[in-house]
Amino acid sequence: MRCPECDRLRIEFDRIVRRNMDVVSDYNTAVLKYEQERVELLRAALHDVELLRTEARIKLASHEETHFTERVMTAGQ
Ligand SMILES: [Zn+2]
Repeated sequence: MRCPECDRLRIEFDRIVRRNMDVVSDYNTAVLKYEQERVELLRAALHDVELLRTEARIKLASHEETHFTERVMTAGQ
């Protein structure tokens, strides 16, 4: 069963996960190069993107939960 909302939320989550990996990689590079200012900036960015990732995961999980409830109700009829 295809659900456009599931697709949209998964795409959004994947996009944030990829961005998170990019920020982590930039952060590690900055740490290795002792770029203190950049490290501070990226640490803040990392914090923000991790919040977004958590939010996107919760949104996806609670949306998928609605499908599960639908299936249970259909099965009971
Ligand atoms: Zn869905």
